[in-house]
Amino acid sequence: MSIQSNLNTIKSSLPEHVTLVAVSKTKPVPDLMEAYNAGQRIFGENKIQEMVDKYEEMPKDIQWHMIGHVQSNKVKFMAPFVSLIHGVDSLKLLEQINKHALKNNRTIDCLLQIYIAEEESKFGLDEKELNELLSSPEFKEMKNIRILGLMGMATFTEDQNQIKKEFTLLKSIFDSIKELKAENCDLKTISMGMSGDYKLAIECGSTMVRIGSSIFGGR
Ligand SMILES: *Cc1c(COP(=O)(O)O)cnc(C)c1O
Repeated sequence: MSIQSNLNTIKSSLPEHVTLVAVSKTKPVPDLMEAYNAGQRIFGENKIQEMVDKYEEMPKDIQWHMIGHVQSNKVKFMAPFVSLIHGVDSLKLLEQINKHALKNNRTIDCLLQIYIAEEESKFGLDEKELNELLSSPEFKEMKNIRILGLMGMATFTEDQNQIKKEFTLLKSIFDSIKELKAENCDLKTISMGMSGDYKLAIECGSTMVRIGSSIFGGR
């Protein structure tokens, strides 16, 4: 199957309120261009340097999403252009993003990553840490970031009930904060679901899916 037909198949299966992030990490620019020429404009990368290189080579109407774990000292490289940072999991990182957004005279949209899996390796905040972050005075002072919602990754397992439980948890945490009124929050996005589990994620309330291998093939 071609990238274009994979993309069309997936897009036609998504409800209107769900945004598709085409996860293009490790794939070469010609593959991304095939998706671009088929109409895709949102791409997700998990390494900052790779995203910067692709940004420089590719058309400027692409929205670049950083979906990987972000090190504070690398924020400056993507601050001029990144469209959405999915994996924000600390106040310290948010401070760096705010600082570099200000330097670039812009506001950077972010999602807070919530830990929902049963694996040690996955990053993210728990519900208590999320609430502490959102109610901290430092957070309220940040004028150059905007929190659009939450992101989570389910456990890598075949057990659909387990995955469903984790997605449902993320949705319920989102529902518990979504009425929050703050200048730097516009809570409307739940980024959950990948190639293997995006249909389940949408059933559980996802509004943004991050799909790589089902579009571009295995890595
Ligand atoms: C790689 C990656 C994806 C996409 O995974 P696929 O299984 O290839 O669809 C989604 N989200 C994150 C955070 C990733 O690192």
